[in-house]
Amino acid sequence: MATQQQQEQQQEVQAKCTSCGGTGLYKGMAEPPGVAVICLDCEGTGARTITFIPYTGRVKCEDVQTVQRSAGKFIAFGTGPVGEKLSYQDFLKEIPEAEVVATT
Ligand SMILES: [Zn+2]
Repeated sequence: MATQQQQEQQQEVQAKCTSCGGTGLYKGMAEPPGVAVICLDCEGTGARTITFIPYTGRVKCEDVQTVQRSAGKFIAFGTGPVGEKLSYQDFLKEIPEAEVVATT
């Protein structure tokens, strides 16, 4: 679904693996003291590559006229809209877009 422009802006960073704290090793309930298993999320490297597109301002939605809150906690569940309706123009005014932070 990414447009040509988004793909051009896509960037990668090496981040410390949050699953193992960058150790490459995981120690859970099943492992006896002094024993660890190789972290599945980073395959023992301690690093994960994160792909992202830098935020350059809120993208306008051309096909939306009415905005409501989602009924579900997770939009993926598709539980439908609830509550107060507001026009897309009011949404743009009432919920300001995030500040664009310049990356160095
Ligand atoms: Zn890891």
